[in-house]
Amino acid sequence: MPITRRSFLAALGIAGATAAAPKNAEAWQSKAPPDPYGCLVDLTRCVGCRKCEQACKEVNDLPEPAIKFDDLTILDVKRRPDQNAFTVINRYYSGRIDDRDKLVPTFVKVQCMHCQDPACASACITGALSKKENGAVHYDVDKCIGCRYCMAACPFEIPAYEYDRPVLPRVRKCTFCFERISKEGGKPGCASICPVEAITFGKRSELLGQARERIKGDPGKYNDHIYGEREVGGTSWMYISNVDFGKVGFQALPTRPMPQTTETIQSGLFSYLWSPLALFGVLGAVMGYTSRKHDKEDGHDA
Ligand code: SF4
Ligand code: SF4
Ligand code: SF4
Repeated sequence: MPITRRSFLAALGIAGATAAAPKNAEAWQSKAPPDPYGCLVDLTRCVGCRKCEQACKEVNDLPEPAIKFDDLTILDVKRRPDQNAFTVINRYYSGRIDDRDKLVPTFVKVQCMHCQDPACASACITGALSKKENGAVHYDVDKCIGCRYCMAACPFEIPAYEYDRPVLPRVRKCTFCFERISKEGGKPGCASICPVEAITFGKRSELLGQARERIKGDPGKYNDHIYGEREVGGTSWMYISNVDFGKVGFQALPTRPMPQTTETIQSGLFSYLWSPLALFGVLGAVMGYTSRKHDKEDGHDA
């Protein structure tokens, strides 16, 4: 039974089209909850007191810090959240000066942003990280196998790992005080303590409204940008500021949710993993057809 070069290439073409068809048919869908809770941080209000860091340690039972919370010299160092501190305050000098020609600092609270479509959850192969209806990106230690894909995936470099914990090390990050906000009227520890109301807790839609009102009410003070409204598809933690976000440690990120890219590529790869089967199936059909045609041409019954 001869297989001609033309019938083989035709079979390849059909197989390729068959493999590509389901990939094109599946459009990526956001799994973001419609109106989760969130926090709005107003950088114009934060005074860098570190009370939020302390409250976070208390509500999450984290270890004592190496430098006490009332020692503000730590603000001279740029820090990231880690396994022992789910939030940190950093101080920046963006070049603004006051009436006495002194540089004005901007204090920035850093923690997990609780993304609407979190890259960490998308990368987690066991479902240990998941976005909840209330807005928290929740970590389930019982499902975690320690692969740390979440750490590589996070665009904000947030998840930390307990490398020094010999038994069952965990991924650690801001929990959004999941247990507290799940209760009626509950607030995150950091938002409850802030003495100057730099952190406002509430429904994301209401926070966006408040942020727009503050910006509109004082356009000379605020920049017209709510960081986290659109970045990576939106986050539950959002910021407003009187200085460019780029000057105070915020990354310029695309508005496209990270999982939209990664899951589309994965879906494409999985589609192509099936393509050999599709190819063999189509080749088989073509070979059967060619064989029958050949037999008929030779005067044999199929
Ligand atoms: S900031 Fe990072 S760790 Fe937090 S939800 Fe987003 S991707 Fe996950
Ligand atoms: S929400 Fe809770 S876990 Fe997150 S930084 Fe605030 S106090 Fe810490
Ligand atoms: S408690 Fe409030 S004012 Fe103090 S550092 Fe935290 S966010 Fe800023």
